[in-house]
Amino acid sequence: MFATSRAWTALIRHPAATTRNFTSSVQRKADFTHAVIGGGAIGLAIARRLQQVEGAQVVLIEKHGMVGSETSSRNSEVIHAGLYYGHDTLKTKLCVQGKQMMYDYCQRRNVPHMNCGKWIVAQTDDQLHALTGVHDFAKEIDVPIRWIGPEEAQRREPDVRCQAGALESPSTGIVDSHTFMQALHADFEEAGGDTALASPVTRIEPPTPDAGTSDWRIWTAPPTSTPPTPSSPTPATPPHNDDDDNSVVTASTVINSAGLYACAINNMILPASRHRKPYYAKGTYYSYPKSTPKPSTLIYPAPVPGHAGLGTHLTLDMAGRVRFGPDVEWVTSPTDLAPSGDSQRFAAALQDIQSYLPGIDVEAVALDYAGIRPKLAPQGSVTSGKGFNDFYIVKEEGVPGFVNLLGMESPGLTSSLAVAERVWEMLYR
Ligand SMILES: Cc1cc2nc3c(=O)[nH]c(=O)nc-3n(C[C@H](O)[C@H](O)[C@H](O)COP(=O)(O)OP(=O)(O)OC[C@H]3O[C@@H](n4cnc5c(N)ncnc54)[C@H](O)[C@@H]3O)c2cc1C
Repeated sequence: MFATSRAWTALIRHPAATTRNFTSSVQRKADFTHAVIGGGAIGLAIARRLQQVEGAQVVLIEKHGMVGSETSSRNSEVIHAGLYYGHDTLKTKLCVQGKQMMYDYCQRRNVPHMNCGKWIVAQTDDQLHALTGVHDFAKEIDVPIRWIGPEEAQRREPDVRCQAGALESPSTGIVDSHTFMQALHADFEEAGGDTALASPVTRIEPPTPDAGTSDWRIWTAPPTSTPPTPSSPTPATPPHNDDDDNSVVTASTVINSAGLYACAINNMILPASRHRKPYYAKGTYYSYPKSTPKPSTLIYPAPVPGHAGLGTHLTLDMAGRVRFGPDVEWVTSPTDLAPSGDSQRFAAALQDIQSYLPGIDVEAVALDYAGIRPKLAPQGSVTSGKGFNDFYIVKEEGVPGFVNLLGMESPGLTSSLAVAERVWEMLYR
């Protein structure tokens, strides 16, 4: 997490021309070509990409005093290979494309990352069947994958149990998500982009060409005022003052990349018939400070069809620390971020972990942090099959200049650079 220094008030370029004395005979010029709402990994990547367009002037609007402080800094930091999300889905396409872009970008910009690979392990025949599905799918989409025999498994990772079989995904890796976002933000600002921190968006008016307005108007409130209720399909509009030049900007396009609050932004813009209700799946992580057992690769259990997550897996961070998680707990608020200390939940996580790492010292496993997955359906699954929800990245019909991103759960970090490319294509091709 990190802060930047630019102030919102400095961003209003032509306040007199855009917010006052307007008549339909005056040719108005928007303050910005693009307003990107939300400074997480995806919003940052989009803002950076759009700012590269000649003549573009992008504003990134973020409600916190720093970028990257919500879901993008509360995840597993895994560069996913794209193994789980099925044929013809945006998640597969953007994950596979984004993975390569992420490796190239991290290399170029010195962002700490490691192509450490991952194993997906099976203890039962049913789990082996699930692994076979993953293997065949990976082959079909040309993502590197290979079976690991028992001897190789024993030699390379003697602490890891994989009774029925193991698959290796060599292109999986890890990234320092904070440095990644810092690099994106630096690129954006160095290219001339503006960041509005501590600026929660509270109201948005689409252009009304019939009334002579061709620009979007976006209001922000001081950070202390009540933000829109994210779980409500119709967020209350806080009081605002049209004469307050510091609280409104205009832009030719709006990109909704507000993560857990993206449905609230959607509902500010689209008619009631197109409102969306958000759902939240919290995932709690556990730390493990001991030096053994410590595999050198990521270890994932076999995927469970219809599950909202990928199972309580073992990941490493760039400092070599082991963490376990995340589990799945459906919650009603996007601010319910306290890691869950529920004893049954903890016992279930330990059972999962011990199934593939039997030598773990359970006394050393401790609650760490939690992140929340933005879901578009109750019980929505992250993997292909029943209950699967794809990324929703749409240039909304009937609302020119609005690109809407909803349900940007995993593998959103991996996909971020590819998502940005897709948004650029939607606007410029
Ligand atoms: C437990 C967990 C594990 C995950 N693991 C992985 C993984 O290993 N690999 C991977 O690829 N992906 C992973 N993901 C998914 C990944 O973290 C997300 O897809 C990604 O971070 C989403 O980025 P974002 O920019 O859309 O959202 P966010 O990071 O949530 O950013 C949205 C931003 O919008 C801002 N905002 C919201 N409302 C407003 C408003 N009204 N006005 C102004 N600003 C606003 C917020 O403050 C926030 O900064 C995981 C997710 C979770 C929850």
